[in-house]
Amino acid sequence: MKYDVITLFPEIIEGYCSHSITKRGIESEIINVKTHNPREYSLDKHKRVDDTPYGGGDGMVLACQPIFDCYNSIEKKENFEFIMLTPQGERFNQNIAVELSKKEQIILLCGHYEGFDERIRLGLKPREISIGDYVLTGGELGALVLIDSISRNLENYLGKDKCACDDSFSEGLNGLLEYPHYTKPREYLGMKVPDVLLNGNHKEIEEYRKNESIKRTKQKRPDLL
Ligand code: SAM
Repeated sequence: MKYDVITLFPEIIEGYCSHSITKRGIESEIINVKTHNPREYSLDKHKRVDDTPYGGGDGMVLACQPIFDCYNSIEKKENFEFIMLTPQGERFNQNIAVELSKKEQIILLCGHYEGFDERIRLGLKPREISIGDYVLTGGELGALVLIDSISRNLENYLGKDKCACDDSFSEGLNGLLEYPHYTKPREYLGMKVPDVLLNGNHKEIEEYRKNESIKRTKQKRPDLL
C-alpha cells in the first residue's frame, strides 16, 4: 500500500511513522509513506500557501495553486483513492478502513488554519473523511489515524500469519467489542484471572470470550448490537 500525504507539516507524519508497527511495516515494504509539502509548489515569491478569506473573517485559507500543483505532481496508481481530511466529511470507521485497505494507493490531503479554498474540493473531487465530530488544528492526526487503521488490515502487517480479524468492530467478532484479556500473574491485588482461561479447554474459552464480547458490547456500546 502506498500512502502519499499532502501536508505542510511532514515531520508530524514522519515522526509517527518511524515507530512501532508502522515503522516495521515500512521496513518490510508492506506500506510506503511519502509526504509532499505544498509549500514547495507555491509560485509565490515568499512560498506562501494561504491567504485571507474573501468576505472577511478570522483565519487563513489554504489557496488553490499550491494544493492543485502538489496533488497533480503525485504519480497515481490505477486503483487509488484521494481523501481530504475534513470535519465535514463522512465519519471514519472500521468498515471504511477495511474497504480502503483493498486500494493500491491512498492520497491524503491535510488541511490547516481555517481550511481549504472551496475550489480545491470542487476541482479535485476528493472523498471527504472526518475522524470525528470535533475540530482539530490540522489534518495530520486524521491522516495518521487512517494510515494506522487501514494498514492493520493488510496481510502480514501485524506479523506473519497474524490478523486484526478478532479486534473490536471486526468481522471476526461480528462488529462487536472484543472480550477482556489477562496475562500473568494469576492474581493481582486480589483480582483473579477467570478459571475458564486457565483450564486449557479451547471450546469453553471460545464460549466464554463470545459471551464476554456480547456482554460488554451491551454494557458499553448497545448501538453496535
Ligand atoms: N474551519 C473548518 C470547519 O469549521 O469545518 C475547520 C478547519 S480545521 C481548524 C483545519 C484542518 O484540520 C481541516 O482542514 C482538516 O484537514 C483538519 N481537521 C480538523 N478536524 C478534523 C476532523 N474531525 N477530521 C478530519 N480532519 C479534521
